[in-house]
Amino acid sequence: MKYKHIFGPVRSRRLGVSLGIDMVQGKTCSLDCVYCECGETTDLTIERKEYVSFSELSNEIADYLSGNPKLDYVTFGGSGEPTLNTAFGPLIRFIKDNFPHYKTALLTNGTLFYLPEVREAAKPFDLILPSLDAISDKAFSAVNRPHKELSNQRIIEGLVTFCREFKGTIWIEVFIVPGVNDDPSELQAFKESLLRMNPSRVQLNSLDRPGPCSWVRTADFEQLSKISDFLAPLPVEIVSRKSLETFKNEKADDTTEETILSLLKRRPSTIEELSGISGVALSQLSVILENMVSESLVTAYTVNDCMFYRAM
Ligand code: SF4
Repeated sequence: MKYKHIFGPVRSRRLGVSLGIDMVQGKTCSLDCVYCECGETTDLTIERKEYVSFSELSNEIADYLSGNPKLDYVTFGGSGEPTLNTAFGPLIRFIKDNFPHYKTALLTNGTLFYLPEVREAAKPFDLILPSLDAISDKAFSAVNRPHKELSNQRIIEGLVTFCREFKGTIWIEVFIVPGVNDDPSELQAFKESLLRMNPSRVQLNSLDRPGPCSWVRTADFEQLSKISDFLAPLPVEIVSRKSLETFKNEKADDTTEETILSLLKRRPSTIEELSGISGVALSQLSVILENMVSESLVTAYTVNDCMFYRAM
């Protein structure tokens, strides 16, 4: 079968081996983010409809998954906002009913969680990764360039409600655009809102590759580390590949263990973050960390079900 709406599987930093499902066609989104890797939004909309039909999507998924491929996640995401498609609720239920052994994830900008029907439709997912890049209207307009009928206050309240209702895992991604959404008052507002949402992880990201706006700069590892410290006690990890590479290059002469220890002396980290820096596979890294824990070089602790390591 020739697939039009599923892609991959791709090896994703955050999700491992992930099969993607594109729920919309072209670049259909409620936002037009200045950092979007898919380029400028061509259809800026909040209209919910069956952009791609349930039958087309379910036929492709059934065909692919019936071959029993090895996947970490089946992920709703792609080139636009998946919750705009009214088929996303029926499709996740179809996957859960017919292929219950697969874990499912939803990559979303979270702008439609103020709608009860969207919150209800998203309930069967195992993992939801909403983005939240701004609290103030000024930063929201500058970073996300939203559809004119969206209100960020309403979006934030929708996310808070969803985080309280949802039984699965939520990782919220915050994309830092230096000079736009990282001033002290914005960071304080982030902290207050994120504490209300109480996600399992907050993932700090920044520009990895050029987006549609040439003025957008990358936040380096030091900047992201300071923001991470400021957001404590929230369980924050840095997922920006470029900033992790900067850190890795600084430590180019070190062995893997020294690099890891050096990072953990600077800030607590998850195993995924350490894997991003060192390039070491998670399985191998877990053995290395286990040894470091037994040698009392490192200690492990949990925040909101998320395991962090820190130097003793
Ligand atoms: S919400 Fe996602 S898909 Fe939409 S413009 Fe922003 S980054 Fe791109």
